Amino acid sequence: MDYDLIVIGGGPAGYPAAIRAAQNKLKVAVIDEWKNKDGTAVFGGTCTNAGCIPSKALLESSELLHKTRDELGVHGIKVSGVEFDVGQMQKRKTGIVKASTGGIALLLKSAGVTALQGHGKLLSGRKVEYTAHDGKKETHSAKHVVLASGSIPTEIKSMPFGGNIIDSWGALDLDAVPKKLGVVGAGVIGLELGSVWRRLGSEVVVLEALDTFLAVADQGVAKEAARHFKKQGLDIRLGAKVSAAKSTPSGVEVSYSDASGSSTLNVDKLIVCVGRRPFTTELLGEGTGVQLDERGFIKVDDHCKTTAENVWAVGDCVRGPMLAHKGKDEGVMVGDLIAGKYGHINYDAIPSVIYTHPEIAWVGKTEEQVKASGRAYKVGQFPFAASGRARAMESTAGFVKLIAAQDDDEILGVHIVGPLAGELIAEAVLAMEYSASSEDLQRTIHAHPTLSEALHEAALAADKRAIDNVNR
Ligand code: FAD
Ligand code: AMP
Repeated sequence: MDYDLIVIGGGPAGYPAAIRAAQNKLKVAVIDEWKNKDGTAVFGGTCTNAGCIPSKALLESSELLHKTRDELGVHGIKVSGVEFDVGQMQKRKTGIVKASTGGIALLLKSAGVTALQGHGKLLSGRKVEYTAHDGKKETHSAKHVVLASGSIPTEIKSMPFGGNIIDSWGALDLDAVPKKLGVVGAGVIGLELGSVWRRLGSEVVVLEALDTFLAVADQGVAKEAARHFKKQGLDIRLGAKVSAAKSTPSGVEVSYSDASGSSTLNVDKLIVCVGRRPFTTELLGEGTGVQLDERGFIKVDDHCKTTAENVWAVGDCVRGPMLAHKGKDEGVMVGDLIAGKYGHINYDAIPSVIYTHPEIAWVGKTEEQVKASGRAYKVGQFPFAASGRARAMESTAGFVKLIAAQDDDEILGVHIVGPLAGELIAEAVLAMEYSASSEDLQRTIHAHPTLSEALHEAALAADKRAIDNVNR
């Protein structure tokens, strides 16, 4: 069959590319090989099946349990005999994932995209070999091909997955609360998964090789978050490099070294989340002209064009942050560019969110990055403890921090640690997308009492004009 576009990979980067191209009246097929653990073939990729969606479902359940047990009393709500059923929590999660993957299949169908389940391989001359799950092969051709093959967890040879050593997908599927849980890597995924099982009762030890906590985040925010995680009982050990782990019938023996020398830690389960790597296995045949970089990512330019004519690549398999929304916007951009329309991504305004409690979110440069750039800057900060809405919500941990240029007042970065940070950051993203100044935010009316007032006040504080906080 001849198509205008074949997309290989139906995750959050691939399926939006297919839908946008179909909206642009192109004849489109998308090939995806994902199978869930029960053997069902579904679209949605890592994000929907083993990433963003199931992790948020479990974070919500575990947070509710924590609130019910430890926070309702202050409202005068008395509960006793609270019980928790891991099986029901996992059943709810599976239902949410199913609804999401079913939704994607429906979206593809209603957009008129041909959805093919099985393996896709790019051959030379933009031919695509499709192998259905039953082994039947077909060869299609396309004017354009989008590669959206995603990423997989990095496996370290000295701590191979298997037995009680699990990856992030395994950690989302545990059917019992481990008594003692080890996590290798205090990155976004390690912190989210560690939080889930800590709230459900595990004793959690997180081993992180770097001496700096959350080196990717603004260090003011990272320090505040670390303080709260410690209070919650997450035992985060920095400068602790894990060299090996051995799965035993009863648990895992973890060897690591830190400033005080070599140590062994015994845990019931070990989650290894030391990063993800681009997945391109069996994706490219001979003579496609598509090149990979030295780290295995598919080489692309700013518009996601690969080194082969009319072959594009988007999402986790190309450079840039491994985030679902980054992949989605790249997919949409390419779906427009292929149809001869305008498409562009502002890589400087991609929000990052860590769905812990308190939540962490940011966009733009950290204070450390602005300082290193040499540009003179000012900082406005507003604590949620001074927000009436946050107090009413019993969520006063954290703050909003806004960094703006001293010369023209341009907003350079916004960093939030606190309630619903992931929702609040959207306003800052929009402001930066419009090249707003801190004064633009200062002169924008924010409803009272809302959490969003904290961003308003942080903008005011940048010019020492905060109303609801002491100006420093
Ligand atoms: P993927 O989602 O990996 O999809 C790629 C798809 O292509 C898969 O279905 C794969 O089977 C298929 N495929 C690969 N090769 C072939 C082939 N040759 N033929 C056919 N099909 C193929 N990001 C966020 O933004 N927010 C979050 O909250 C968040 N939470 C996360 C939590 C966890 C535990 C994990 C692991 C990740 C999380 N992420 C989150 C990251 C997010 O999941 C990824 O950035 C996103 O899934 C990348 O999308 P993608 O489409 O590029 O790749
Ligand atoms: P991320 O890249 O956000 O997924 O986070 C992965 C984290 O794992 C990083 O902070 C790494 O420093 C950390 N890490 C990688 N290898 C090891 C290791 N052997 N021991 C401990 N931490 C590690």
